[in-house]
Amino acid sequence: MTTTSLNAQQLVSKQRRFFRTGQTKSLAYRIEALRTLRKGIEDYHQRILDALRADLNKSEAEAYSSEIRLVLGELDYTLEHLEQWAAPRVVPTSDQIPGGTSTIHPEPYGVTLVIAPWNYPFQLAFSPLIGAISAGNTAVLKPSELTPNVSKLSADLIRDCFPDEFVAVMEGEVQTSTELLREKFDYIFFTGSTPVGKVVMRAAAEHLTPTTLELGGKSPAIVHKDANLPRAAQSLVRGKFLNAGQTCVAPDYLLVHEDVRDELLHVIQLEIADKYGKDVMQNPDFPHIVNAKNFDRLSKFLDNGEILLGGRSEREQFIIEPTLLQGITWDSPVMQEEIFGPILPVITYTDLDEVLEKITDRPKPLALYLFTRDQQIQDTVLNTVSFGGGCVNETLLHMSSHELPFGGVGESGMGSYHGKQSFETFSHHKSMLVRSV
Ligand code: NAD
Repeated sequence: MTTTSLNAQQLVSKQRRFFRTGQTKSLAYRIEALRTLRKGIEDYHQRILDALRADLNKSEAEAYSSEIRLVLGELDYTLEHLEQWAAPRVVPTSDQIPGGTSTIHPEPYGVTLVIAPWNYPFQLAFSPLIGAISAGNTAVLKPSELTPNVSKLSADLIRDCFPDEFVAVMEGEVQTSTELLREKFDYIFFTGSTPVGKVVMRAAAEHLTPTTLELGGKSPAIVHKDANLPRAAQSLVRGKFLNAGQTCVAPDYLLVHEDVRDELLHVIQLEIADKYGKDVMQNPDFPHIVNAKNFDRLSKFLDNGEILLGGRSEREQFIIEPTLLQGITWDSPVMQEEIFGPILPVITYTDLDEVLEKITDRPKPLALYLFTRDQQIQDTVLNTVSFGGGCVNETLLHMSSHELPFGGVGESGMGSYHGKQSFETFSHHKSMLVRSV
């Protein structure tokens, strides 16, 4: 269960009292805390794998590479650079202020709240937590109730590592989030859906609490006629069907140039068979849909357009096989909301400008993937469409680089994190001018 017997109000007060002792501000304290967390994760390695298997049927390989490895990588990178990030930064002072010295001091906000979703329930809870701790904050973590095994192990792991006055987990459903959001936090980091992001932002506005919102949306993948098709197919299949499509940065739909449509769809089918076997329904390692509600929501999309590949599902275990839909238009129901499952609608185009206009007319996506060898087309897409981040001739990988801030824009979110950006996100930058007398 939850790592504290306190209610939300008592917990926030307790953490605030602890924050005011100044202990978390010491660099040594933060480094020690990050090392303790690393050791905790190592000790819980098998339990994390087991919980991800129980909640989402993630295979050990997938669970390790897309959850544990990313968190450990983030921890190691932070430990390596924290001293440098945390140091005051001297910046030039205007000639008009003789004898002045200007410095920027990163300082922790105070008591922070991290609300996590269910799709990468370990990574998306612990990765922001690393940012909160590294910047010297205390933290309350609220995991998703839809992945109860990961939620419980997160609570156990944190209880083994930290006292609740420093880091605590509050398990629970929407009610728990609501109670937490009534309290005054100094920073809120939310990952989840766009509608709930609005709820969080409204609650944060009551206390003028700065907030990062890591939200979702429909991320397009564009395959132009000059693309390397086998490469595109490999990357699209990996990006779309990882975690059975329940990935915030998964390519949501495919836009393919008419000239290469048939060939691309052919290689995608070969790639799916190669990666997941001829009968995915029998593959014990293909992740499941998280619950009945999402399974039923996704099943309705199977009636959209025409099924080119896949289309079978099994409600008892919430399995939907990788499915390609054709005969889809921009007005089809499957094109109106984030899919978040292993269903890939395919739209053919001849005029790239028209496609870019259609994308620009819609809410700004979290990611965009473009497959082309043409530098001019790469430049055009980059300069015309606003989206959180993305890749050319790849999918997903922009989010695994420590050097690339990760986040959305517009309806796909605000703010960013990963690597140094996590430290920056959880820090206030206090600007100081000191004048000699
Ligand atoms: P969700 O918004 O339903 O839930 C996220 C968290 O918010 C959970 O902990 C949940 O308990 C809590 N919550 C739910 N309703 C709430 C309410 N009314 N008030 C307060 N808290 C509430 O999202 P989800 O279904 O867990 O996750 C899927 C969504 O998250 C998708 O849209 C996906 O694209 C997005 N996502 C984004 C990223 C990213 O990095 N941008 C990563 C993963 C998932």
